[in-house]
Amino acid sequence: MPELPEVEHVKRGLEPYIIGEKIISVHFSKTVEHSHSEGRQAILKGLELQTFCEKVKGYTINQIKRRSKYLLIELENGENSGFLLSHLGMSGAWFAVDSIDMITEGKFRNHVHVIFTFESGRLLIYSDIRRFGELRFLENLEDYPPIIAIGPEPFDENAEELFLAALNLPKFNQKPVKEVIMNHQVIAGCGNIYATEALFRSGIHPKRKVERMALSKRIGLFKQIVEVLQEGIDAGGSSISDYRNVNGEAGNMQDRLQMYGRKVCPACGSATKQAVIGGRNSHYCSACQR
Ligand SMILES: [Zn+2]
Repeated sequence: MPELPEVEHVKRGLEPYIIGEKIISVHFSKTVEHSHSEGRQAILKGLELQTFCEKVKGYTINQIKRRSKYLLIELENGENSGFLLSHLGMSGAWFAVDSIDMITEGKFRNHVHVIFTFESGRLLIYSDIRRFGELRFLENLEDYPPIIAIGPEPFDENAEELFLAALNLPKFNQKPVKEVIMNHQVIAGCGNIYATEALFRSGIHPKRKVERMALSKRIGLFKQIVEVLQEGIDAGGSSISDYRNVNGEAGNMQDRLQMYGRKVCPACGSATKQAVIGGRNSHYCSACQR
């Protein structure tokens, strides 16, 4: 599942290819059309396909931003503005190409669901093998409360302060720390992979209740979250499962993960343990993480 570093990488990869491009048409796959005709909204949420096409036609892409694991593609059309909000779900991928054939991997090429055609003739393509991804058009971000509820971006100046304040809230204080740091109201974009790594690197047991963590441990954990996310961005993301960046390349963060998916602890050689915490499987070392 793409996490913050992967989404950041997609953003950086798309930027040089789509800024300034004007959308002239949108095409959906038969699968998406069928799903919408049956009242299910595969991939495109909140609008009818036709309405979406009419809304975005004529808009120029102004900017692309990331908020947590969402891509925000800012659109402008004279006086009007709006956003394409994209969440990659489990296996979403964006490609900026001249033709579909340029998507070399069959599993992505065969699961193309949305094609934006630009005035320049270039294409912006959304592919999604498992179709858990979401695409929306919003006139205002406030129209979509989940975006507003997201906590601080880990790299923001005041992120540590807000993170520490959130940990003190009664609703988080009593919970296992891993569940809390994966909550986007506490910190944006720290999903299972990076939460697992940050806890291992800071020597904290994933089931430890927040209230039983000293302030120094909380600060240390915050620093590890930031560091591991930065490392993920620098490595081009991790290519566990079906993530690819905009050029169809896989990142190599998976080679640097010390605890996620590991059977043996790289620090002490003990067999790792697993537990489901906050609905997600967690690897940890009971000797190194307290
Ligand atoms: Zn260990």
